[in-house]
Amino acid sequence: MHSCLNAIDSERSLFTLANTDFLTALWNRRYFFSQSEKLPDEEIKHLAIIDIDHFKRINDQYGHHVGDEVLSHVAATLSAHFENDLVARLGGEEFCVLSTREQSTFQQALERYRQQQADIIIPVSGFEITVTVSIGVVSAQGGIEAMLHDADRGLYQAKEMGRNCLIALS
Ligand code: GH3
Ligand code: MG
Ligand code: MG
Repeated sequence: MHSCLNAIDSERSLFTLANTDFLTALWNRRYFFSQSEKLPDEEIKHLAIIDIDHFKRINDQYGHHVGDEVLSHVAATLSAHFENDLVARLGGEEFCVLSTREQSTFQQALERYRQQQADIIIPVSGFEITVTVSIGVVSAQGGIEAMLHDADRGLYQAKEMGRNCLIALS
């Protein structure tokens, strides 16, 4: 019995190691792609890419370890806002949310998250840090790769617009 439970624990640990991001505990890229392939097309409604604005400055100003803490904090805020959606760290300071919600409710939730994120003071090593995020969002079309590509275009436009904003491409 004991060894059986150990085996289950080991399997769980392996699954966690393979599918989650060590720093933020969010799902990782690998899990994101494997899950999105499994979801029936009609269940995927929208995809958003969220990127922290001027994140390099935080590393430069406060150090990489502070940057790491800020990343974890932002990830926790994001996943608290999107508990029923698939939230993953795509890499670096870039996250994505795959949602089955309707367009207007999803965009409102993203806007709420964006505004709240800008208001949150993140305490790290005696510093009080605030960050903003830019967001690109698209509706379901032509598979996950195409959606990521288009959400990325939206994100690029959000950066061009001055950051701390959301651009939806249909
Ligand atoms: P933009 O508003 O255009 O997105 O500017 P940015 O500075 O956020 O973007 P840029 O791509 O220039 O820099 C991203 C930085 O994120 C650079 C990289 O060192 C940092 N970064 C990526 N992954 C990690 C990480 O795991 N920890 C820390 N501390 N920094 C990271
Ligand atoms: Mg950035
Ligand atoms: Mg980036």
